[in-house]
Amino acid sequence: MSERMLDVSNLTAGYGPVSVLRGIDFHVNEGEVVVILGANGAGKTTTLRALSGMIDTAGSVKFEGEELVGQPPPNIVRKGIAHIPQGRGTFPELSVEDNLHVGAYIRNDNEIDADIEKWYEVYPVLKNRRNQTAGSLSGGEQQMLAVARALMSRPRMVLLDEPSLGLAPFLVQDLFQRFGELNRDTGTTLLVVEQNAQLALGIAHRGYVLEAGQIAIQGSADDLMHDDAIRRAYLGV
Ligand code: ATP
Repeated sequence: MSERMLDVSNLTAGYGPVSVLRGIDFHVNEGEVVVILGANGAGKTTTLRALSGMIDTAGSVKFEGEELVGQPPPNIVRKGIAHIPQGRGTFPELSVEDNLHVGAYIRNDNEIDADIEKWYEVYPVLKNRRNQTAGSLSGGEQQMLAVARALMSRPRMVLLDEPSLGLAPFLVQDLFQRFGELNRDTGTTLLVVEQNAQLALGIAHRGYVLEAGQIAIQGSADDLMHDDAIRRAYLGV
């Protein structure tokens, strides 16, 4: 777990004249789960958008030694990075099954249908609703579909944006457990942005705290969980 998979240095990004990230440095080792914590508006979502090429970005993002800054999002997906955006991340007009096929668009192996069947075993409700449009699913079902769709690309690294948002607590627990298992069983590397610090630190190896577009604190998940400032700000103790 020592190989640096993602190496971010002096990353700046924003929206037009509004600058949000003010030169951040962090890294993710292969096989790690890393969490980015921070208050509303700190720049967590912006960080993930910058990594996957969705907004104008300066600085350097090296993935396995290759520069990602300036590359369009499809190239970044092809390198093995899947982004599960905040909210949904599905195509509402397409059926559940078509969403899963779209998730596999970069693959040309013959295991795509078998992978879809595996996801139907994990989430039987998706199988029952395979011909319905994604937009007609409940919030929790859409989140399941968003996860399955993103993982259909068989990514080596997953960028996960606030998976707990809008989900019933038991679904959030289940989702985090699944991501913990995905990491342990397949070695998939995870970068998770999350406000529920307790849950996220529970599956993470290391973490960073973003404050107003800068990294304010970093450390092992264990250290962060026992840090007084973090406990007060993010763990409600
Ligand atoms: P949250 O948990 O609220 O999503 P966050 O840490 O993910 O917080 P970001 O979504 O990255 O924060 O937002 C950082 C800043 O960028 C905020 O001040 C926000 O208002 C601003 N911002 C976000 N999206 C846009 C946009 N599309 N256009 C202009 N400003 C934006």
